[in-house]
Amino acid sequence: MNEQLLIAGGGIGGFAAALAATQAGWGVRLYERATAFSEVGAGIQLGPNSVRCLQAWGLQKPFQAVAAFPERLQVRSALSGQLLAELPLGARAIARYGAAYGTVHRADLHALLREALMQLPALQLHTGVTIDRFAEAGDVVQVRTARGREIEGDALIGADGLWSTVRNQLLGDGRPSYCGHLAYRALVPQGGLPKRLRTSQVTAWLGPKLHAVQYPVRRGELQNLVVIVHGEAPDDLQNWDHSANVADLQSALTGTCSALQDAVGAVAHSRGHWRLWPLCDRPPVAGPADMARGQVALLGDAAHPMRPYLAQGAGMAIEDAFELQRSLAMHDLEIPLRLRRYALNRWERNARVQARSARNGRIFHATGAMRWGRDAALRTLGPRLLDLPWLYGDSKDL
Ligand SMILES: Cc1cc2nc3c(=O)[nH]c(=O)nc-3n(C[C@H](O)[C@H](O)[C@H](O)COP(=O)(O)OP(=O)(O)OC[C@H]3O[C@@H](n4cnc5c(N)ncnc54)[C@H](O)[C@@H]3O)c2cc1C
Repeated sequence: MNEQLLIAGGGIGGFAAALAATQAGWGVRLYERATAFSEVGAGIQLGPNSVRCLQAWGLQKPFQAVAAFPERLQVRSALSGQLLAELPLGARAIARYGAAYGTVHRADLHALLREALMQLPALQLHTGVTIDRFAEAGDVVQVRTARGREIEGDALIGADGLWSTVRNQLLGDGRPSYCGHLAYRALVPQGGLPKRLRTSQVTAWLGPKLHAVQYPVRRGELQNLVVIVHGEAPDDLQNWDHSANVADLQSALTGTCSALQDAVGAVAHSRGHWRLWPLCDRPPVAGPADMARGQVALLGDAAHPMRPYLAQGAGMAIEDAFELQRSLAMHDLEIPLRLRRYALNRWERNARVQARSARNGRIFHATGAMRWGRDAALRTLGPRLLDLPWLYGDSKDL
């Protein structure tokens, strides 16, 4: 009989892990606490590093069918609207990195992974099951659900996100912390917008203590807008989907250029809704033991939650899954050794991306002399600062 992997969590990370493990010859049982699989209505950028993994899993066509492929990334001043720097994406990203730079609705990415999983006989997907505890007993791992059911497998992957229960038991390192930033996000149909407000590129607007990112998703039919500002956290940090007070957002944008304000204003005109995410993170992973111990490993946000300022949280979950596949496929090795190998090959890259994401937040939101220096560097070094070969290239080239 196949080795059996238990997965806690059916987000993008859990689904990618399930796909990877079945491709490594494992049977998989995945448990999601929500009563139906779903993803919040928001966009996600996927760099060539993660698109390459999707390609290797044979998902190029379904990804192409739902994603948008922006022609360029532009960085602009949120105050003056002036162009600070530009990086061509499109064909250049494919030529340089062997895969496109894509932008996709989270639900579309989640659905295409799920569709791929539905074709696999060695896989069971369960909803409405919350993983509560685990125990290692000899060479099996026993999992207990919130309703007291016992499930046994050969290994457990905690892909249960930022507030991971599996991490809590495995590492016991406390709760993630609120980083002081609030993300307002909205999706609007581009067809209903005046031409000047539609977009086929990624635009990042940088301002004092705020930034905004705008890009197309779903073949360009929708526009995703995220505005990140400093502010007090709502009481319930675990909710990704608070309703947002638009007046607060507008007041945070006082003094920004008309182009950015028009883009934000277009949401209300298209009868779109702003939603609010309080952003939380943890310090970077400190070593392989933070990602795997014995027959249990962590993946995605459970392992390395990060600020979204490098647009790589889901990308790192996808890369984790890709590495997990290689390690799980080493059938001659003891399972704890395979998981340790997975962690050894992932922790440094994840830590680097976490640290760079936090640093980007400080640079994006800079004020005073630091802002002046940032803008000058972007104007002179533009593409050299925006292109990230260490990130978009093969992670083995590190
Ligand atoms: C504003 C913003 C913008 C972002 N933009 C990007 C971007 O452009 N590009 C990018 O790559 N990333 C981006 N990210 C990051 C990305 O959203 C996350 O890194 C990614 O969704 C993490 O996926 P995950 O599967 O690890 O966790 P999650 O998506 O949190 O999934 C965890 C799943 O586990 C389930 N679960 C939790 N506890 C249990 C339990 N005990 N038992 C069973 N199930 C459980 C949950 O219900 C959930 O379905 C962004 C994040 C934010 C906040």
